[in-house]
Amino acid sequence: METQLLGDSLQQLEAAANLIKNGEVVGIPTETVYGLGADAANEDAVRKIFAAKGRPADNPLIVHLADFSDAVRYTSLIPPLAYELAEKFCPGPLTMIFPKNSTIPYVTSGGLDTVGIRIPSHPVMHRIIEISGCPIAAPSANTSGLPSPTSAAHVMDDMKGKIAAVVDGGQCQFGVESTVICFEGESRVRILRPGCVTRQMLLTVCREVIIDDAVLNGLSKNEKAASPGMKYKHYSPKADVVLVDSSLDKFIEYIGSCNESGVYSLIYTADADKFPYKYMTYGDGSLEQAHYVFQRLRELDECGAKKIYVRAPSNDEVGLAVLNRLIRAAEFEVIRI
Ligand code: AMP
Ligand code: MG
Repeated sequence: METQLLGDSLQQLEAAANLIKNGEVVGIPTETVYGLGADAANEDAVRKIFAAKGRPADNPLIVHLADFSDAVRYTSLIPPLAYELAEKFCPGPLTMIFPKNSTIPYVTSGGLDTVGIRIPSHPVMHRIIEISGCPIAAPSANTSGLPSPTSAAHVMDDMKGKIAAVVDGGQCQFGVESTVICFEGESRVRILRPGCVTRQMLLTVCREVIIDDAVLNGLSKNEKAASPGMKYKHYSPKADVVLVDSSLDKFIEYIGSCNESGVYSLIYTADADKFPYKYMTYGDGSLEQAHYVFQRLRELDECGAKKIYVRAPSNDEVGLAVLNRLIRAAEFEVIRI
């Protein structure tokens, strides 16, 4: 199939919305990463998403809506706390899990009785939802397992020939996927996947916010994943990734002692002057590192890197989201020195 590259004029957004209405899959920019969008209520269309990505059938898709007031059409119970959270964080990078109703097929929910709902703020995604009139199921627009795409060119790299179109809306603002939460009782939420709506931010509305163990740890063999995406190898470039949690001096010493070929390091921008080996930088604060992390992993593959040592981000707030992605990209290989 030929994959059209569309711009973000109204006419081209109408073309994208029509493709979705007709059961096709389109790459769409959001404020987090690019998504592969299809009509969430159309089983055949949703199956095309799983096929294009090579995504395991039990990994659920998030359903994107234009306004939180539409969530009642696809769910069977929305707790009062969700409305308070929506007031503050929707539209934006927050996905809330609710019991689904029968309008959402099990293909979309990965066989679960629940559905993740998000209200994206990106004007392109927002307009396409509005014009199509469809709830849009949209996982990240990468081949399953690879780093998530933050530009239309990344989506083309992975999806050319497999989907009907990609809409180019420029670089994504945040660069990592949404925060995913579920509700436990009246005032507590659990973070299943960290993102740019952080624990501190959620605590301005919820009395208690728990970070699920699987955010930073692998699941043990027979453990059931609360968030199925967490159990797969994820976000990895072709090169091997190793995460190094250390001071800059120790990091430099460690890289100097590696006698391997094709080694690159991914370091903080502020440390570039002092770094004597091959490197790329991914910014300094956590928000900046979130913005660049997936882009740099893709670029390092293009440079021919065989092994990438990443100087770990801080474990605070948005840093937790970056760390969560990098730990999975490294398949839990973390060196602490
Ligand atoms: P992606 O679409 O690539 O951003 O992945 C979406 C992730 O959100 C999935 O891999 C799950 O980990 C999580 N998720 C989506 N829907 C649900 C759900 N109903 N219950 C638990 N986690 C979910
Ligand atoms: Mg993904």
